[in-house]
Amino acid sequence: MSISENILKIKSKLPESVALVAVSKTKPISDLLEAYNVGQRIFGENKIQEMVSKYNEMPKDIAWHMIGHIQRNKVKYMAPFVNLIHGVDSLRLLTEINKQALKNNRIIDCLLQVKIATEENKFGLLENEVLNFIASEEIKKFKNIKIVGLMGMATFTDNQEQLQKEFEMLKCVFDNLTHRKSFNFNLKTLSMGMSDDYPIAIKNGSTMIRVGSLIFGKRTLA
Ligand SMILES: *Cc1c(COP(=O)(O)O)cnc(C)c1O
Repeated sequence: MSISENILKIKSKLPESVALVAVSKTKPISDLLEAYNVGQRIFGENKIQEMVSKYNEMPKDIAWHMIGHIQRNKVKYMAPFVNLIHGVDSLRLLTEINKQALKNNRIIDCLLQVKIATEENKFGLLENEVLNFIASEEIKKFKNIKIVGLMGMATFTDNQEQLQKEFEMLKCVFDNLTHRKSFNFNLKTLSMGMSDDYPIAIKNGSTMIRVGSLIFGKRTLA
């Protein structure tokens, strides 16, 4: 199957409430253009420099999502155009995003990354850290960011029950916070689900899936 066929197939079964992020990390521009040409407009990358160079080469009506772990000193490169940052997990990072957004006269949408996987190497905040985070005095000062949702990555496993449990947990954290609203905090987006687990994520309330290999084929580099 080609990239365009893969996209159309996934989209044909996607509920209208769920957005598809095409995760194009490590893939060449020609692959992204094939996806673009069948109407794909949201692309996800996990390295800032790679996203910037693709942004420069691709049409300008694309929403670029940063889905990877972020180095603070590189935020400035994506601040002029990034549409959504999925992996916010510290006040220091949010401080830098706010600063760079201000320089660009923008308000940048962000998702807080919540740790739901059992693996040690997965980033994110624990539930009580999310609560402390949003209750902090610092966050009230940020005028140039908006926290619009949560993001999580499940454990790399075939165990459907475990995946179900992890997505349920994230949905629960999400639901417990949707009543909280302020000028820079209003949860609408729940980013969960990848190539191998997105159907379970959708059953558990995902509104945004991040799909790479099922669209573009296997990656040789992570
Ligand atoms: C690479 C990546 C994806 C996509 O993974 P696939 O299994 O190829 O669909 C989704 N989310 C994040 C955070 C990623 O780094």
